[in-house]
Amino acid sequence: MALLSRKDVDVNYTWDLTSLASDDQDAVQRAEQLTKDAVKFNEAFEGKLDTPEVAIEGINGLKKLSEELVLISTYASLRLSSDQSEPEAQKLSAVLGNTRTNYASNVSFFEGELLEKEDSFLNEVKNKAPEYKGYIDELLRNKPYQLDPKVEKVLANFSNVFSAPYSLYNITKLLDLDFGSIEVDGEEIPVSYLAFEGGLESNPNTEIRRKAFRQFYDTLKKYENTTAGTYDIQLKQEKTESDLRGFDSVIDYLLHKQDVSRELYDRQIDTIMKDLAPHMRRYAKLLQKANGLDTMKYEDLKIPLDPSSEPEITVEESRKYIVDALSILGDDYVDMINRAYDERWIDFVSNKGKSTGAFCSSPYGDHPYILITWSSLMEEVFVLAHELGHAGHFYNANANNNIFDTRPSMYFIEAPSTMNEMLMANHLLKNSEDPKFKRWVISSIISRTYYHNFVTHLLEAAYQREVYKMVDNYETVTASDLNRLKRKVIEEFWGDDVEITEGAELTWMRQPHYYMGLYPYTYSAGLTIATQMANRVLEEGQPAVEDWLEVLREGGKRDAVGLSKMAGIDITTDKPLKDTISYIGSLVDDLEKLTEEIDG
Ligand SMILES: [Zn+2]
Repeated sequence: MALLSRKDVDVNYTWDLTSLASDDQDAVQRAEQLTKDAVKFNEAFEGKLDTPEVAIEGINGLKKLSEELVLISTYASLRLSSDQSEPEAQKLSAVLGNTRTNYASNVSFFEGELLEKEDSFLNEVKNKAPEYKGYIDELLRNKPYQLDPKVEKVLANFSNVFSAPYSLYNITKLLDLDFGSIEVDGEEIPVSYLAFEGGLESNPNTEIRRKAFRQFYDTLKKYENTTAGTYDIQLKQEKTESDLRGFDSVIDYLLHKQDVSRELYDRQIDTIMKDLAPHMRRYAKLLQKANGLDTMKYEDLKIPLDPSSEPEITVEESRKYIVDALSILGDDYVDMINRAYDERWIDFVSNKGKSTGAFCSSPYGDHPYILITWSSLMEEVFVLAHELGHAGHFYNANANNNIFDTRPSMYFIEAPSTMNEMLMANHLLKNSEDPKFKRWVISSIISRTYYHNFVTHLLEAAYQREVYKMVDNYETVTASDLNRLKRKVIEEFWGDDVEITEGAELTWMRQPHYYMGLYPYTYSAGLTIATQMANRVLEEGQPAVEDWLEVLREGGKRDAVGLSKMAGIDITTDKPLKDTISYIGSLVDDLEKLTEEIDG
């Protein structure tokens, strides 16, 4: 079926962006006004922060400017993600790009000048304006690593150059790589990133899946040196900045941004590599048996346990499932979900040029927006529950904090979203007696939720840590180093139970996260908190729910350890992680039992 153009889709299933900006013209006019206001801000405050009172006036001004920037930037970026090929949306996005650069160059002095003040000055700002405690505390946390304001400005001016490796990575990936096609039973099947990740790699037909794998990885192989060279520049930049700012290790430099200790980081990787592996190997064996495979290969790991048991579902039906599953979070939460459907916060349609995947954007001062492409698969109920988890998080955080205090550490970001996936699964299991459906639900939380967060991203994290160890020794990394490190991690995890096909080591080439710092390990960290919290809700009911809502409202006012503690989860010990891993083990037990029951 050919994709519709954006102008031909049913508008009732698109998002309504008018509360961000009434139309493109309104956004452009406000962007121009914002640039003028940023210049005025610069004239009013640069070199003039003599008293705490003036500094507070400055923070007030900065707050207003950044709130407006968020609204119109979000409008432009959502316009573009609903149709990347629309010329008007592209133009608008370029206009906002310029607005952001102008804005940054006009306001960048402000933090630098505040950081040059004595601590007593900053403490007085906090005392006189307690609402800015979070803002000032974050400045103080970064102060020891701050460079001379002139150097900071130079670095800021090079920011486009510093982001070049990521752009180059995407150019290789999205423009240069041509995967061609494969032929199965006389039928030609085109291969691309989208086709491979969107279905071919999990295709239940073994010939299609394995041929697609060969074709995909043989093509990646041709670009391994360019991609490794690009990545090496990224790594060298990070190491240079880490050295300049006075960190001993690039890992510490990247963790400082997340306000997370080395201990928490290492534990997440080490414990999962060791304790989760046996459970996942059992799961692989089950997949092998259910699909009648002689050997279990790396390219077979994403096949479904039972592709025939997935029900179909409409958008309206999805509302009922989601409201029922999440109603435990209270009336306000349910009210938000209903508003999301009724007031068109969600873009469900499928059209040419629309961004793939799903995301939630929660601009301060407005409600959240969700992008998803609805294809009527039951699995999408989990995706939507996940995105509504991000929405519910920032809906609460934004309403209860100023714009500086809303975002928590990356360590915590995936907790509220994956928590909703767990609530959805628990709800579906509780209300069904059909073993096939139950097995579908459990296998879908393992193959989606846990596999994705605890296996795929964790193996990335384990490999990434080895790469950064080389970087800390000032070594240059080449494609053969990256292949060697990646293969070692995959083999260590799967042992003899899965055959690691030639080419699997190139999997490092697929992941854009390596250009975003220590992102990969945070997925399993967030889901560890979510699993513990969902189990608390299941066991304790209301008091656990109250704690969780309190955490959502807290925004970014505490670090990951503090937020987890509010949720009754102590992540300074390894207990939550170990409990989560045994919970995953118990899900694999359930799958084994249900499979026996079904096969008789
Ligand atoms: Zn998410």
